[in-house]
Amino acid sequence: MLDIKITKNPNPAEKPDPSTLGFGKIFTDHMFMWSYSREEGWHNARIVPFENLSIHPASTVLHYGSEIFEGLKAYRRADGKVQLFRPIENIRRMNNSAERLCLPQLPEEDALYALEEFVRLEQDWTPSAEGTSLYLRPFMFGNDESLGVHAVHNAEFIIIASPVGSYYKEGINPVKIMIEDEDVRAVRGGTGYAKCGGNYAASNRAGERAELKGYSQVLWLDGVERKYIEEVGAMNVMFKINGEIITPKLTGSILPGITRKSIIEVLKSEGYNVSERLLSLEELTGAMADGTLEEAWGCGTAAVVSPIGELCYKDHKYTVCGGKIGELTQHLYDTLTGIQWGKLEDTFGWTVEI
Ligand SMILES: *Cc1c(COP(=O)(O)O)cnc(C)c1O
Repeated sequence: MLDIKITKNPNPAEKPDPSTLGFGKIFTDHMFMWSYSREEGWHNARIVPFENLSIHPASTVLHYGSEIFEGLKAYRRADGKVQLFRPIENIRRMNNSAERLCLPQLPEEDALYALEEFVRLEQDWTPSAEGTSLYLRPFMFGNDESLGVHAVHNAEFIIIASPVGSYYKEGINPVKIMIEDEDVRAVRGGTGYAKCGGNYAASNRAGERAELKGYSQVLWLDGVERKYIEEVGAMNVMFKINGEIITPKLTGSILPGITRKSIIEVLKSEGYNVSERLLSLEELTGAMADGTLEEAWGCGTAAVVSPIGELCYKDHKYTVCGGKIGELTQHLYDTLTGIQWGKLEDTFGWTVEI
């Protein structure tokens, strides 16, 4: 078992009023840290009081963007216990991201143990109000103290935690999405499938432009032909067209979401067919024009399921599902959140009690 040295915070903070929680603004009393060097491998696993980091001004991450991250939540069940949702999937995905960015591999078992131990220590920070959770942010960055460009020799793996409010404060609200045909998020052969900070840096401009026009996110097209649907904002995307449930297949430029994977598994267990295939913009706009687009939703850990009520392409606005949440969208939201908060029986074995 990984030996984790624990230094307790001598000045623990007051737990915040759950009605004031936003996203990622308040942090818990501690953080988990683990250092890596080529010589020593992973060493010095520790939980320490939450504090600012001190890094060298030439640190790799500050210049060459060697950074990857994960996002998952700890959920407070009605019986008071705290549980995680498929945490091993996050560890495995982080290792895939690390491989792409030439960051070191985490030993799976130890990393999962560290995550669980950290949550055990901070579990009182998991809020219990409807829709709230403790958001966990594991991240890793290259930390060589040199401006030379090469695969990193030194890295840090850190987990921080933040109590977060309900994504939907006034009930589930369908969002308006703008189809982005200028900027692209990722290209095949690039880092699209890796959860790395750089992908976000490249996405900000389109997101900002959409927001100025009154849209909450952009729908990304593929980076080569700008022809196929990829993702929506920082979520995967799914459509129901003429009875067929479609989600873009993982071509390398799409982030393999754990919510996406879970929804596919839920749908298959209920006897639905899910097409993981290329979906062209032409097919989508055709379905919007002739009314065969029945439902559309984004999916990811933060919102779980986010119904799309309007899509805009080159100033043509299309209302989806009458601007309301669709029946299947609602069902998927209820099923996943039911399992995550322990209100529904977890027949998949996805949850891990702390
Ligand atoms: C994290 C992320 C998702 C969603 O992944 P989940 O594992 O479901 O939270 C989708 N797209 C992008 C770009 C992401 O960064």
